[in-house]
Amino acid sequence: MRSAESLKLPAFDAERLRADFPILQQEVNGHPLVYLDNAATTQKPEVVIEAIANYYRRDNANVHRGAHALSDRATAAFERARDTVARFINSPTARQVIWVRGTTEAINLVAHSWGRSELGPGDKVLVSYLEHHSDIVPWQLVCAATGAEVVAIPILESGDIDMAALDELLDERVKLVAVNHVSNALGTVNPVKDIAAKAHAVGAKILVDGAQAAAHGMVDVQALDCDFYAISGHKLYGPTGIGALWGRETLLEAMPPFLGGGEMIETVSFAGTTFNTLPFKFEAGTPNIADAIGLAAAIDYLDGIDLSAAAAHERALLAQSLELAKQVEGLRRIGAPNEAVGIFSFVLDGVHPSDLGMLLDQQGIAVRTGHHCTQPLMDYYQVPGTVRASYALYNTAQDVERLFEGIHKAVRLFR
Ligand code: PMP
Repeated sequence: MRSAESLKLPAFDAERLRADFPILQQEVNGHPLVYLDNAATTQKPEVVIEAIANYYRRDNANVHRGAHALSDRATAAFERARDTVARFINSPTARQVIWVRGTTEAINLVAHSWGRSELGPGDKVLVSYLEHHSDIVPWQLVCAATGAEVVAIPILESGDIDMAALDELLDERVKLVAVNHVSNALGTVNPVKDIAAKAHAVGAKILVDGAQAAAHGMVDVQALDCDFYAISGHKLYGPTGIGALWGRETLLEAMPPFLGGGEMIETVSFAGTTFNTLPFKFEAGTPNIADAIGLAAAIDYLDGIDLSAAAAHERALLAQSLELAKQVEGLRRIGAPNEAVGIFSFVLDGVHPSDLGMLLDQQGIAVRTGHHCTQPLMDYYQVPGTVRASYALYNTAQDVERLFEGIHKAVRLFR
């Protein structure tokens, strides 16, 4: 096998960063863990685990009540976390950052609040073939309720959005274009800035599913000129159960609440209820305070890392994978996007993806197999699923070598 050196991996000290992640220090099934399922969820550095534990140890109280010192501390940390997210995605204000459980809830919020009030019969929502089910099903639900229609934007064999087909689909009946910034199944980086300009030219809004993009430091909601942007903390080296919806202020102001309850109101009476200002209008009930603080700790951790160098390192691991794949007969990469993050999605002739996944797991190598919540995309490629190795900043050339040792073993065993 070719070594990392002969492939000229850029200097990026993944080995050093690896030490920050306690979970990576263990053996799984008798082998040192090789974790290559980062597109599903990333591992958490010690500083994130500590931030959450310390919040519960020292500051735990409900927020925005202001009745005592702990509540003041919890509120300050919680709102500082919102400021941290706002800065990370370059939001003009923190009030445009709405806490949600993750990307799925963010998209559902927009679908049910904006969609139900803005969509009607004859309207169209364009959704690409690359989308995760989280960016398809909410639109199907809201279109079924409003009489609008979901229309699929075709892709090319490379796994890139077919921009010419998009041009043809765009007309004044399109009210929203919903696309991911980065595909979780293929790694495609979509030209969301161009898509936003095209959507705006016909008066449509654009929602960007940023679940896979945020960890690569490529989110600048102002530069992208999008209308909504959704992220999940757990894909960003932060905790599960927390994420953010960013929205254009004028749109968020005009949108009705999504969930009703405490926190999101100004006054409640049986004669009628008035609602709180942004962002609280969309944050019914006690929020996930600890994990918001954990997410801010993850972003603070990432602030100390050159994320574009990390992304280049992950792409180099993809390049190494593609090189090593040439030595495996019957291995076919699915998609070959114009621009991609470090995601290697493939099928292997004569070996079912789940069998390969199981065999790799026995060797301590964690990959994802299956449809990756992108069944329309799998249908497009006429495969039931793929094997996906998704690289993060703590993965190394040795991890890729271990993956390929496992693949060769599977070939020997199953063929
Ligand atoms: N969109 C994409 C592109 C994703 O990769 C994921 C997670 N796999 C989601 C949406 C859903 O994110 P979550 O489960 O955090 O809500």
